[in-house]
Amino acid sequence: MSVYDQYETVIGLEIHVQLATQSKAFCGDDARFGAAPNTHVSAISLGHPGTLPRLNKRQVEYAVQLGLALGCEIQRHNTFDRKNYFYADLPKGYQITQDRRPICVGGALQIPSAEGEKSIRIHHIHMEEDAGKSIHDQDPQHSLVDLNRAGVPLLEIVTEPDLRSPEEVDALMTAMRQLVRYLEISDGNMEEGSLRCDCNVSVRLRGSDQLGERCEVKNLNSMRFARRAIAYERRRQIDLIEAGCKAEQQTLNFDPVSGMTSPLRDKEDAHDYRYFPEPDLPPVQLDEAYVDQLRATLPPLPWALRTELATDYQLSPYNAELLTQEKATALYFKRLAAETPHFKAAANLLINKLLPWVQERKTPLADFPLTTDQLAELIQLIADDRVSNAVAYQRLFPALLDRPEARPLALAEALDLIQSQDDDFMATLVREVIEQHPDKVAAYRQGKKNLLGFFMGQVMRQSKGRANPKTAEALLQRTLAAD
Ligand code: ADP
Ligand code: MG
Repeated sequence: MSVYDQYETVIGLEIHVQLATQSKAFCGDDARFGAAPNTHVSAISLGHPGTLPRLNKRQVEYAVQLGLALGCEIQRHNTFDRKNYFYADLPKGYQITQDRRPICVGGALQIPSAEGEKSIRIHHIHMEEDAGKSIHDQDPQHSLVDLNRAGVPLLEIVTEPDLRSPEEVDALMTAMRQLVRYLEISDGNMEEGSLRCDCNVSVRLRGSDQLGERCEVKNLNSMRFARRAIAYERRRQIDLIEAGCKAEQQTLNFDPVSGMTSPLRDKEDAHDYRYFPEPDLPPVQLDEAYVDQLRATLPPLPWALRTELATDYQLSPYNAELLTQEKATALYFKRLAAETPHFKAAANLLINKLLPWVQERKTPLADFPLTTDQLAELIQLIADDRVSNAVAYQRLFPALLDRPEARPLALAEALDLIQSQDDDFMATLVREVIEQHPDKVAAYRQGKKNLLGFFMGQVMRQSKGRANPKTAEALLQRTLAAD
């Protein structure tokens, strides 16, 4: 056993979710991603003297929705604080955040793990605003600053140190991304920075219940980087301990090029942020009716839909998982399932045909040109053995996409795709195939029974897919056995 195996990794996350509001957290500036640099920057975003912040009520609403979904306690009275530091992308010189009384405390999110389902506890969720964006790779001499992002509303979700591996971190971030998308409070897009996390990493000997000294790796904006940063930190900290040194508590930056972490020498080093109560914003007071109303109107949540698909519709856990990755897919499945009793066939069609269609075109499922009624008819044709599964998938489905106004049965008839129920047709076909391959027939009769697959292939091909596979197989077996 290597010395590394004696240690366990302990990880806690600070997850930042950029909220999909139209305007910023404390002023009316447009909060949306993608505009020309420094075009969404008013005097309030810049914190000019004499300006006053005003809280965006959507931010509060989104925070409460996320808190309710995660089973947090919603703090009816919560307050804002100023976190002071100097940095070029922070024009006000402070960030408005919630330090003493955050909006949500407690709660948990379930993730799949190597040992089965695991609950990751949430410490709290607080509201805050984003800083601007420093750009270091566009000018060789200077760093550039885009302040469009300054003041965009964020939720920070702080977990307990319950995670034990990069895989669990990945699972938690995936579950969080899915949840914020279900709630429609954020697009959860890691590439565009709407979902980021800081990883707090420590190591300890297996079996110990004491926490080790932790390091915080900042601003990991992709899961790949987070995995690599955690793996690097684990090794570095174990090496230090094994060398007789102590891992020090530090704030680190991860460099994806070198794959290493290094101490941050800028704002993150200054631990004294001089937090004080934000004097320009009154406390947030939430009444029961407000919270109740948000609870009552919460959209369906991923785990509830997953269970529903697995139990009410009897899909396999794997298919239930696939179909609930996006809310739109799960709801589409339910609409389709309302029109057909063949739930499994509906799930298969959705997974094998509609989802690839969506992925190829990068358009939402709502744009899919066929109606659920047409799809139900297609599924029924397969269920009734009138069109084989293969022909339905490979020929009828594409033909329908070319002529989305057509009815599946009528189109199948027009294209001559209906399976023959005609016994003479089948018998002739089987006899012809057998006559064409006397050597293979002899081999089959001498015991090479796996040649049945070959004969089946021939029959299906020569019938142009119109042979019913079950009938063909029975007939072939009978004919080959005779003599
Ligand atoms: P702060 O950053 O304000 O000091 P905390 O110390 O409570 O806040 O922790 C911040 C994050 O660090 C949390 O996600 C928590 O789970 C995590 N954390 C705290 N201690 C450890 C540790 N020993 N190992 C790994 N993660 C830790
Ligand atoms: Mg922290």
